[in-house]
Amino acid sequence: MAAVRTTVLGYPRIGAHRELKRATEAFWSGRTDAAGLEAAAARIRRDTWETLRDAGLDDIPSNTFSLYDHVLDQAVLVGAVPERFAGLDGLERYFAMARGAAETPPLEMTKWFDTNYHYLVPELAPDTVFQLDRRQLKPVKEFREAAAAGIQTRPVLLGPLSFLLLAKPAAGAPKEFRPLDLLPRLVEVYAELLGELAAAGAAWVQLEEPVLAADRTPEELAALRTAYDHLGALALDRRPKLVVTAYFGPIGEALPVLGRTPIEGIGLDLVAGAADIDQLVRAGLAHKALFAGLVDGRNVWRTDLPRALATAASLLGSVRELVVGTSCSLLHVPLDLDLEENLPASLRGRLAFARQKVDEVVLIGRALRDGRDSVARELTEADAALTTRAPGVVDARVRARLAALGDGTPRGDYEARAALHRGSADVPLLPTTTIGSFPQTKEIRTARADLRAGRIDEPAYTARMRTEIDKVIALQEDIGLDVLVHGEPERNDMVQYFAERLAGYASTDHGWVQSYGSRYVRPPILYGDVSRPVPMTVEWTTYAQSRTTRPVKGMLTGPVTMLAWSFVRADQPLAETARQVALALRDEIRDLEAAGIRYVQVDEPALRELLPLRAADQPAYIRWAVAAFRLATSGAADSTQIHSHMCYSEFGDIVDTIDALDADVTSVEAARSRMELVGDLARAGYHRGIGPGVYDIHSPRVPSVAEIEEALRLALAAVEPSRLWVNPDCGLKTRGYAEVEPALRNLVEATRRVRASLPG
Ligand code: GLN
Ligand code: ZN
Repeated sequence: MAAVRTTVLGYPRIGAHRELKRATEAFWSGRTDAAGLEAAAARIRRDTWETLRDAGLDDIPSNTFSLYDHVLDQAVLVGAVPERFAGLDGLERYFAMARGAAETPPLEMTKWFDTNYHYLVPELAPDTVFQLDRRQLKPVKEFREAAAAGIQTRPVLLGPLSFLLLAKPAAGAPKEFRPLDLLPRLVEVYAELLGELAAAGAAWVQLEEPVLAADRTPEELAALRTAYDHLGALALDRRPKLVVTAYFGPIGEALPVLGRTPIEGIGLDLVAGAADIDQLVRAGLAHKALFAGLVDGRNVWRTDLPRALATAASLLGSVRELVVGTSCSLLHVPLDLDLEENLPASLRGRLAFARQKVDEVVLIGRALRDGRDSVARELTEADAALTTRAPGVVDARVRARLAALGDGTPRGDYEARAALHRGSADVPLLPTTTIGSFPQTKEIRTARADLRAGRIDEPAYTARMRTEIDKVIALQEDIGLDVLVHGEPERNDMVQYFAERLAGYASTDHGWVQSYGSRYVRPPILYGDVSRPVPMTVEWTTYAQSRTTRPVKGMLTGPVTMLAWSFVRADQPLAETARQVALALRDEIRDLEAAGIRYVQVDEPALRELLPLRAADQPAYIRWAVAAFRLATSGAADSTQIHSHMCYSEFGDIVDTIDALDADVTSVEAARSRMELVGDLARAGYHRGIGPGVYDIHSPRVPSVAEIEEALRLALAAVEPSRLWVNPDCGLKTRGYAEVEPALRNLVEATRRVRASLPG
């Protein structure tokens, strides 16, 4: 029988009370120095190690802490620092790479697989020289720090294959260059680093290779083999034992490849990647340790312990050692359920946050070692929490309505709708509009905080919001925009706002999860059937419409995004949950129409993010995502214009999906790629209305009239004027009026010039 141990792959690093945010932001603003920041960071690390030890975990990870991002840490560690940061050093260089400095743009940031965490993208070129920065070997330093506190840890590193595949070629690198070409040199540096960790006394090192959960080419699998054959071949006095961990899905064909390398352990995500279990025996793990990810690191639900135990027990015969653990790092879930005081009791019993998941891991380990009876009480308790269907989870009315509705009757043909819209046009050719939000000013935030703290009542709050809407409407009229928005002052966050108004959703008070750097989000928890007790946006939108004769566009968040940025129930397929959200939105659109609103935008910025990592899984996802959007919008009259918005520019893989949504107009991010995607869309046969963002709202720079005019002309080279809308790349809520106002004036002026030059 295999020996049993317990661990987690990683732990939240922001502190129980967001200490890391406070410490880094204080450092950036000059309120603390490097020593102050370092002291706060050391406290968080030590707290984490001690918490994990006291909870009874056998193996504790280290180097899971980061001041900003672990991919950036790894880039700095191996010396992958682009030339433009050469004049800087230490923390100054580190944060410049993360956030930019005066004239130096930062590394690009992008989504970490299909999570809402963002990492910094290493930039590599043929002449990149990997070299350990011996003055600051972060993993060695943190290993020693833990050891000094009496805690033996397992350092965690991003593996060499993932590091290269997550990197991008630096601007100016030759076209044929691929970061993977650098593998042999990078592996040498890893070998050196492993030597340092061994010398410091580390018994195990965890090398993370999450890229294995996505489709990999034979060449990439060969690179995987080369890398770990090489590192595994190092003598055991020159390296710690190696466990290669993958997560976010099954690793499929990579498993036998890894199985044949001389590494000592393999970590698998047995929640999202349970399919790997079938090939475990064939993969030759009899001589290796299996780090079995049995407790879900991506969601907030309590583990089905009897089931996890049964899986674990079934593995004992196939492996040398079974290390019970989490499916991935706990970075993606909130820290501690015990901090929550306002969750409905029926929901609370079914939840487990990071701290509770550690207990679950320990419990499974204990049951395996000492027998089920040793944890009988805990098992019964967990079972009771999971099997009693909490009140409010099932809403028979919602289910009956959805069953009766099916997929809903499609709207009239798009071309006929477009003709109808042209016929009743209340806007000129090349209509100008915005994506929804206007700057979130200090007054708006204060009003929201005052309401929450009870310093003002509901009517006073409404009055303040109305004043803001008055301002935003007047400004848009003055600027000369064609389709106006109310500006979304009442929304703290585009998902949270709706989650707070829908039944079936709960909000946490302290459930912060790192999104990037010092930006944390508090995803709501979708735990029951979703329904809409009362209209959610009608009051604000119709108020805005009452202040102007120009059309006002209603603003809703789409079903996929409502799921993507929440923790969602795992007891029914996502597709079913999406239909419930869609039904609520469908009702909202009806109410908006009844109140005289003729334009409704349904935002789906997360549409691409939820796209499964493996191509084989994508069609099913696209089917339900499209169906949900259409269910939400197909109740609209043909005379209503349905808009949608997405904000990323890699549309290549989802052009057909955007078409299938059947929206009348879609606005997309396009400025940074200089309108390239308009041509892509046209070539792919997209024939609906399109609003390619004509300027980048992520930068405070005010675009000139000439620049916007040029962007419009580029777009017009690929799409007829009757299809083209003019708008910024995304919402304006993170900007200030000092930039927004001149930028929008330039946008309107550029549009006038282009209109004037159109034939006829
Ligand atoms: N309507 C939202 C806004 O303008 C859209 C935000 C988004 O795309 N992320 O803020
Ligand atoms: Zn956007």
